[in-house]
Amino acid sequence: SYERMQKIHEQNISPSLRTFYKKPLLLHQGHMQWLFDYEGRRYLDLFAGIVTVSVGHCHPKVTMATQKQLARLWHISSIYMHPSIQEYAEKLTSLFPDPLKVIYLTNSGSEANDLAMFMARLYTRNFDIISFRGAYHGGSPYTLGLTSLGLYKHGVANGFGCITTMLPDVFRGPWGGSHCRDSPVQTVRKCVCSEGVCQAKDQYIEQFKDTLNTSVPKKIAGFIAEPIQGVNGAVQYPRGFLKEAYQLVRERQGVCISDEVQTGFGRTGSHFWGFQTHGVVPDIVTLAKGIGNGFPMAAVITTKEIASSLAQNLHVNTFGGNPLACTVGAAVLDAIEEDGLQKNSEDVGTYMLLELAKLRDKFKIVGDVRGRGLMIGVEMVTDKDCRHPLPAEEVSQILEDCKDMGVLIGRGGLYSQTFRIKPPMCITKKDVDFAVEVFDTALQ
Ligand code: PMP
Repeated sequence: SYERMQKIHEQNISPSLRTFYKKPLLLHQGHMQWLFDYEGRRYLDLFAGIVTVSVGHCHPKVTMATQKQLARLWHISSIYMHPSIQEYAEKLTSLFPDPLKVIYLTNSGSEANDLAMFMARLYTRNFDIISFRGAYHGGSPYTLGLTSLGLYKHGVANGFGCITTMLPDVFRGPWGGSHCRDSPVQTVRKCVCSEGVCQAKDQYIEQFKDTLNTSVPKKIAGFIAEPIQGVNGAVQYPRGFLKEAYQLVRERQGVCISDEVQTGFGRTGSHFWGFQTHGVVPDIVTLAKGIGNGFPMAAVITTKEIASSLAQNLHVNTFGGNPLACTVGAAVLDAIEEDGLQKNSEDVGTYMLLELAKLRDKFKIVGDVRGRGLMIGVEMVTDKDCRHPLPAEEVSQILEDCKDMGVLIGRGGLYSQTFRIKPPMCITKKDVDFAVEVFDTALQ
């Protein structure tokens, strides 16, 4: 019964794992973009198990491939070969530009980022790694130094050698340059840029240089950024910022790491990887979440040269990339291609962004609508002009009302003020119409 599950949850599950909603949902089944509870209620899932169910709950193709492999062989570890492993390595790396051709499979995003930090330090023989304020790169003691949202910090494991710098946020920054970000929806604030010169970007680059100069001179191990910040609520940087930042880091011998845990696999629509939208090629890319559609797996992709820095000794991950995980990963890639999900992200995502922008124009508490493809943030404020975050209880109430009307939405941001809409990429325009109508009603 519901009461029994709730009691066990309270007694035997870590209180650091918090559920959504006053009365947490007890779910039963999932099919593509839909979830069902035990009372038969159906929910449109706009958060995909924290941006993880990329191709749809229990996608038939992925389920069938996994079931077949389940009956044959699960695990051999990395000391033997199995066609699923080698073929997946070939398939996944074929989706990356040169020289990103070597993968290392792990089980979670935190592990992938741990390894990326480790590789950056081994390769450069430098120590400092820079990340942005508001970033989430993992909950392990190593990556917590890069994660810079207070809610996730514990004060005892904040990662030595990690430097958190400013956040080049188009909406929250003092400039609010409207045409400077890559989104079909621009901010409501007036743009201060002219003749191709973006003041916001230039000012942020100056701040970034300050950070680099406060590190050990010319000794950066790496710089890590998400192409669009995920947990912080689809925060976007001014157009051109990341490209210049990469140059500055490389001038100081640092490597550039793109955390694609949320933005990868076509989620941002126009490109398969988020870094491509910034016109950069990173030195290391980390993947998790959508890579396995919910199956625990993750990956680090890098160059031969950087990968070899780890080869001077053994570095083993027992579960990483076993035949079962590789079979799931390959089936997910097939599903994205066969179902046209990258294009769907672009089409349906753009449609949704434009529909949500209408709500932004209608309600003064909807401060900003942003993102690309199906990586969408809706930032709630007390008033568009002052941009104060809407109190968390009011945000919770809207979330609760949407759930009661059959739509599940995520939330994030420094003040938990931003709705996160990142559904399975199989969502349709009809689903968007339903979701926007529900959201509109909840806002009213
Ligand atoms: N990077 C990003 C961008 C993430 O959003 C997350 C998880 N929210 C992680 C890394 C860590 O992934 P995991 O929870 O699988 O360790």
